[in-house]
Order: sequence, then C-alpha cells, then structure tokens
Amino acid sequence: MKAISLVLLFVLCSISLTAQPANTKAVSQTPSAGASSSQASASAPASRRITAYTLPPDLYQKARHLNRMRFVYRIFSFFYALFVLWLILQARWSARFRDWAERVSRFRILQALIFTALFAITFALLQLPFDILEEWVAKLYHISVQTWPSWAGDWAKGQVLLIVVGGVLVWILYAVIRRSPRHWWFYFWLISLPILLFLFFISPFVIEPMFNQFEPLASKDPQLIPLLERVTRQAGEEIPPQRMFWMKASDKTNFTNAYVTGFGASKRIVIWDTTIAKETPDEVIVDFGHEMGHYVLGHIWKGLLFSAALFLALIYAGYRSIDWLLSCCGTRWHIRSLDDWASLPALLLILTVFGSAAAVAENTFSRYQEHQADVYAMEVTHGIIPDPGQAAAHDFELAGEIGLSDPDPNPINVFLFFDHPPIPDRILFFVTYNPWIQGRKPQFVN
Ligand SMILES: [Zn+2]
Repeated sequence: MKAISLVLLFVLCSISLTAQPANTKAVSQTPSAGASSSQASASAPASRRITAYTLPPDLYQKARHLNRMRFVYRIFSFFYALFVLWLILQARWSARFRDWAERVSRFRILQALIFTALFAITFALLQLPFDILEEWVAKLYHISVQTWPSWAGDWAKGQVLLIVVGGVLVWILYAVIRRSPRHWWFYFWLISLPILLFLFFISPFVIEPMFNQFEPLASKDPQLIPLLERVTRQAGEEIPPQRMFWMKASDKTNFTNAYVTGFGASKRIVIWDTTIAKETPDEVIVDFGHEMGHYVLGHIWKGLLFSAALFLALIYAGYRSIDWLLSCCGTRWHIRSLDDWASLPALLLILTVFGSAAAVAENTFSRYQEHQADVYAMEVTHGIIPDPGQAAAHDFELAGEIGLSDPDPNPINVFLFFDHPPIPDRILFFVTYNPWIQGRKPQFVN
C-alpha cells in the first residue's frame, strides 16, 4: 500500500478496497501482471506433483531481483510521500492554494474542491515519475501489457475520482473542525463511515466499471456456471449466477485473479478473463472456492469493521499530534490555524506517519483472512474435484511465474507490506492440508 495519508489514504482505501478487495492472489505483490505465453507455458505439466513452490533458474534470478527492488521501492515510497507533503508546506504552496481557493469563491464547498484539486494534482505530479517508473518496470518484466494511453487514462480517472470524493470529505472535515475543535476527530469518523459504506456499495456499479469492463459470467462462459454452482451448493450458500461476473483483464495484464466486492445488493464474485483463459477448470474452481470463503466467512464486513476501528485510532492520533506540529511550524508555513484549509498537508503528514503502522496492522489482518479463505477453498472443493491441493498448487505456481513472486521473500517485507501470505507458504499449505485422511475435522465445511 502506498504511504499516502488519511483523507487521501481513506479515500484510496475505500477505492482500492472496492477495486481489489479480498482477491485470490496478491495484486499488490504482483501489480498487474502477465508473463508472455512462453513464460506461462514454462509451468510444469499438469501431471507433475508439486510439493513446493519452485521456479526455473532464469525466472528465479529475475524474481529475486525484482522483489528486492519492490521492497526498496516500497520503503522509498513512504519516505518520498512524507517529503512531498513537507515540500508542499515548506514552499508555502499549501498557503497559496488556500489563498486562491478563498479568492475564487466564498462558498466553503467550492473552496474545499479547489483546494483539494490543487493539492491533489501537485501531489500526483510529484509522484508521477515514480508511478511511470513502476509501470515501466512492470512492462519490462512482462508483468503489465497495458498500453501507455490506457494507463494514462486510468491515472487521470483516478485523480478525478480522488478530487471529487476527497474534496467532499475535506469540506466535511473542516466543517467539523470549525464546529467542534475538541471532538472533530470523533464526529468526522462517525460521518465518514456511512460515506465509506455508500462508496463501497456503489463501487461495483459506478467506480469499477470506470476502469474495467464487466459482463455476466453466464454470458461469457456458460459452461463454468454449473461447475461453480456445485461449489456454492456444497457451501450451503446460494450465490445466483447473476452475482457472478467476468472481467476483462487481458488488455492490461496476463496475471490471473478473482475477487469478491460490494455488499448487500451489490455483493458479487468477479473472475478475470485471464483466469479462465490460462487455468484448467479445476483451478478456476479452487479460485472460486477461495472467493466463496471470503463471501461465506463475512470477510468484507469484518474487513470494513477492522478498517473503521483502525481509522478511529489513526484520526485520534492525528488530533493529539497536530497542535504540536502547527505550533512548531505553522507560522513558517503561513497556516493560520487547524481550521485553515492550508493545514491539510500537515494533518496528512502526521496521518501518514501513524498510517504506516495502521497499514501493517491491516496487512496482518488481511493475511489472516486470506489464509482462512485458502482453508475454505480446500474444504469446499473437496469431493467436487479430484485433487484440490494440487489444482491450487499448479494455479499458484503459474501465478508465481507470471507475477515473478519471490520464492524466498524477506520476512520484514512480508510483515510490513504483504496483504496475502507469500506464495511459497500458500503452496506448502495446499499440498499438505488434508484433515480428512488425518482424522481431523475440517475447519469450515463439513
Ligand atoms: Zn482472497
């Protein structure tokens, strides 16, 4: 997760939560992805029995190299975000953006939108060279196949979304700060929760289709539906085919994936077209079983509650520290007081620092849920396909080859940044989990 801070992080969280929630394979470990078909076919023949995650020597070297770079890049990104926020304050751009916003309109909502737009665009432009570098590396390693115009379009849409949603949240935040200087952190948290939920709810209808094309799975791959319905029946959970979707990912990536998104009436399972193209039906069923796990075990709700609790702690920490920062440097930065728009980057600076700890907690919780979904996948497909463990192992070995997953990831990297367990651990689990012959009770599905 990129270290941008709260209102930003919060908006991004809600968007990225909705964009890539509870997916099968860590997208953050493997940004988008896609090996050339020659790499994909380098995966072992389906008959080979997998006992551990291995890579051919050339891919092994590439994977080690790339993942070392990714680790360094993540650490760098955090400090770079802090630097950019500091620069915006120190150069008094923030104060200037406030002056412009106040000059253009006397309406607070317009001021909030103008200030947020100027600030967000400045931040994004200073970040842009590194975003481009990241995408360039993904292309270099045959991980992304997206064209630059398409990539730029996604980038621009992301910025517009951030400015609109962020602008409204900033307007609310400063309205609350002005009315309640001592308890704004609590009221803002309270007000933002239904907004987050609303965004999460409409995301499958409004936000996700802005970036990718979706079709009902039944119209794209009708043969798959009866197979998947065997899994939902085994789970004792009715997921009608209208809630199963196909997503076109192949114009951006060769990586395979599936995810659960939305809640209530918008809750659905999405399978990427790359998954259907590259995986055997047994492997798709295992992926689907993993998503069913998230669905049945209520991971979306639990994840939202966990994030909401973390957000409260984070914003309280921000409230406790912001006075100190403003009394030290506010005059130099031409910030009048906390209720001045210009204080936003200062608040975000503090939230970014505390947010790094929150992100680690969030990742740890996510890895736990992902493991539960893996257990669920093994149990719910048991008896439906001949060997779920081997199907999953083949599936993840292929994903590891395409996304160049590290065969031996640095434990600090895993602890800080991985939102899914590392692929070697997951494959080891798949090939050894067998409570049925070990005389133990399955954990979730009987
Ligand atoms: Zn998952």
